[in-house]
Amino acid sequence: MKNFIVRGTPYFPQELKNINKYKKLDNDINVDVVVVGGGITGALCSYYFNKEGISVALVEKENVATGSTSISTSLLQYELDEQIADLEKNSDLPTILKAYKFSEKGLKELTALIKEANIDCNFKKHDCLLYTDDKNKSDILQYEYEQRKHEGFNVKFLDKNTLKDFKFSFPIESGVYSYNGGAEFNPVKFTHNLIKYLNDKDVPIYENTEIIDYSHFDDYVILNTSNNQSITCKKVIVATGYDISLFTSKKFATMYTSYNIVTTPVDKINGWNNNCLIKTCENPYTYLRRTLDNRIIIGGEDTRFIPEFLESSVAEMQYKKLKDKLYSMFPDISFDIDYKYNGTFASTSDNLPFIGPDIKNKNIWYCLGYGANGTLFSVNGAKMLSKLYKGEVSEDLSLTSLDR
Ligand SMILES: Cc1cc2nc3c(=O)[nH]c(=O)nc-3n(C[C@H](O)[C@H](O)[C@H](O)COP(=O)(O)OP(=O)(O)OC[C@H]3O[C@@H](n4cnc5c(N)ncnc54)[C@H](O)[C@@H]3O)c2cc1C
Repeated sequence: MKNFIVRGTPYFPQELKNINKYKKLDNDINVDVVVVGGGITGALCSYYFNKEGISVALVEKENVATGSTSISTSLLQYELDEQIADLEKNSDLPTILKAYKFSEKGLKELTALIKEANIDCNFKKHDCLLYTDDKNKSDILQYEYEQRKHEGFNVKFLDKNTLKDFKFSFPIESGVYSYNGGAEFNPVKFTHNLIKYLNDKDVPIYENTEIIDYSHFDDYVILNTSNNQSITCKKVIVATGYDISLFTSKKFATMYTSYNIVTTPVDKINGWNNNCLIKTCENPYTYLRRTLDNRIIIGGEDTRFIPEFLESSVAEMQYKKLKDKLYSMFPDISFDIDYKYNGTFASTSDNLPFIGPDIKNKNIWYCLGYGANGTLFSVNGAKMLSKLYKGEVSEDLSLTSLDR
């Protein structure tokens, strides 16, 4: 069964006016590093390897930025999918706090990249709200607040007393408000523009080029494409998102389907403090953001991975729940739904990604930004792997290693 799926009409590609196309690989090539996968992770890996002066090529079996990247809501936050109190069931507090810092580092790094390469992608910094309307969850959020505060994050605890300073139209029993705790962008625009930037710097980009098998040797790897070309390289970076069956049978994550709807533009919203990024403290959680043209994206209502034949009836139910939730949070607004889509989402037990060399095949390296912070994890992963190639071992690789 194909376990990687994007269904519906994603919003983000519609914002692009011109889409660059890249040619299929039609000869044998030899490079130091091949990045397999032309999503946001593949683009980031190619960027950091190129920055280190390493010869790198990117291959994509379809068109770039059409996989999971095309439906990422792109909330770029330091907090993880679950709260610290829940994560402590699978991990220890110092590791969890390191993971928060790791994500924060990813956001700083991404901000610097966008500036340095001058990538047009609608990037905007935001405050973030994590909240609950359930009294029974207040302890979890109080603890979350205390740990974050202690770690030096700029946070405020929301309760009946402090809430009066914030403008929210929906019931909040308690919450953690992070000042400048996140950002948003258009992930498709970012990926396309980063790939164009790389191509302009002579990094070869190949679309419609599928890797179908490979042979692993001590010092090199030979990859074969579906149209019978071969690529010889020293290292392969697996940036194939949720579709890794060609390279490993290891089960890194549990697959879910996550649902998004995007409204028509809503110009004025009362009760959305500072257009912050919003997440609920629920399982599965709901997440919300605005877009540049004043739409609202609301996502969540995750189900275990839904195969194709069951999809449409389940999806319509989940979209309806999201629409109802949005009306209940902002009763004054009126809107229609312009876009609805869903896709595979991979969740790991410690909310951390898998980044690093394969356990057996030392020339196959993974950059799998699993979890809700996939983008920021991929930023860090791409940088760490490019440094590793040069012999620098980042301390953070222990957080993301494949044998944990
Ligand atoms: C609904 C939803 C909401 C999300 N929201 C957020 C969010 O708010 N913030 C966040 O950080 N993350 C979010 N994510 C996660 C985010 O989408 C992923 O972390 C990210 O897009 C993964 O990018 P990628 O490049 O690794 O994978 P992809 O974009 O899937 O790219 C992988 C590429 O590899 C190619 N490929 C696969 N096999 C081969 C092969 N054999 N040969 C050549 N090419 C191949 C595929 O065609 C594909 O284009 C969300 C995910 C979903 C589903």
